[in-house]
Amino acid sequence: MENYAPVAGRPASSSEKRRLLLLTTTTGYQTRAFVQAAEKLGLAVVFGTDRCHVLDDPWQDGALALRFDNPEEAAARVVEMAHRRPIHAIVALGDCTPPIAARAAEALGLLYHRPETADICRDKYRSRRRLQRCGLNVPRFARFPIGADPLGIVKLGVAPIGFPSVLKPLALSASRGVIRANTAQEFISAFKRIQALLRSPEVRATRQETSNYVQVEEYIEGDEVAMEGVVDHGRLKVLAIFDKPDPLVGPFFGESIYVTPSRMERETQAEAIEALRRAAKALGLWHGPLHAELRINSRGPWMLEVAARSIGGLCSRALRFRVPDLEENISLEELIIRLALGEDIETIRREESASGVMMIPVPDAGIFQRVEGVEKAHKTPGIEEIIITAQPGQKFVPLPEGSSYPGFIFARGPSPEFVEQALRDAHQKLHFVLSPVLPVI
Ligand code: ADP
Repeated sequence: MENYAPVAGRPASSSEKRRLLLLTTTTGYQTRAFVQAAEKLGLAVVFGTDRCHVLDDPWQDGALALRFDNPEEAAARVVEMAHRRPIHAIVALGDCTPPIAARAAEALGLLYHRPETADICRDKYRSRRRLQRCGLNVPRFARFPIGADPLGIVKLGVAPIGFPSVLKPLALSASRGVIRANTAQEFISAFKRIQALLRSPEVRATRQETSNYVQVEEYIEGDEVAMEGVVDHGRLKVLAIFDKPDPLVGPFFGESIYVTPSRMERETQAEAIEALRRAAKALGLWHGPLHAELRINSRGPWMLEVAARSIGGLCSRALRFRVPDLEENISLEELIIRLALGEDIETIRREESASGVMMIPVPDAGIFQRVEGVEKAHKTPGIEEIIITAQPGQKFVPLPEGSSYPGFIFARGPSPEFVEQALRDAHQKLHFVLSPVLPVI
């Protein structure tokens, strides 16, 4: 029998649909995937967004306008709304919404991660400190104010980190602003580049306290994996381990190919799972999705990041799950909503086939015109879908300043090797046509 979370606010009458609150900034694919999954489960969706002022925003009717930079105030608005229109589950998309979801869920008795955990996971300094204190392998790290003089830091010996080091903002994502420095000169120029990025109007508009710092970390060698999971009443369930077969050695760290199941030795996978279980416990993750990045070397698994959210962009399409007694597979979004409703997800497993996604790297700086070869690339054996998200006229900004991928390629097949090759072959066939960015006179 299904077992549902308590109803927050006024009880829903039997004719009323149960409601899912979706906290999100964008109307993109990820949001649509959650809406589709919610509709499939017979839920009504209420949006909480910080974008209601946008004129072409399609959610003006009924969307709850929230200030994502103020989690307390935003959560209070959610609670107030729930007394008029009860909500039964909360899902938070992106990086800045989990702190709101956590506060609202706590006040309404809904299932989610706790506020302190959501806050810590949003801040690379606080999460490193917590993991280190709990005895996990994390790179040595230090945090410097954004106004610090990098030359002064170098003169002090970049203590206690040394070279190579990795410099990064505390709360951006998709490897934005993450730069490796092998020498003092590289350190100084990387620091200045991150200073400029954090002071850009776009980043300042998010008004995050975390934008006032630059973190410096020891560079950890090793193979990198991403782990997708959920925590169910404090118990970790790993849904997939993705290998990242392209070397990620810097100076920038653009993601490209993710393939699952992992080709790592069983024992190494078990060690990674155990490290993630300890990390989830240390951070206090309680109920909801998680996404983690780990590096593995001869000294074991190293936690690079644990986020209290699911995999970003469109990548979740690489995952499908089998539910016993259900004919068709379900999406990650459906699984996360079922979890948020308090359903038992214990027996749900990823499908048998190997699967993968390529986040297409930004080919160059320029203005995107069109992409050629999509049809040909689509015919590559194993390729299921190619989605170009870039719009003609869009400015392409490569890493470390840029933040989005022009599109995604998805493949499935009998083995991880086959999937990886399919993604590479399809990508080879794509040709992005850009025009130069004209300098502003
Ligand atoms: P984001 O949250 O923006 O993805 P991360 O902190 O996860 O930023 O870093 C992005 C990528 O940069 C990682 O996936 C990894 O490849 C690389 N990286 C970050 N920190 C380190 C480190 N200390 N040592 C080695 N590589 C790192």
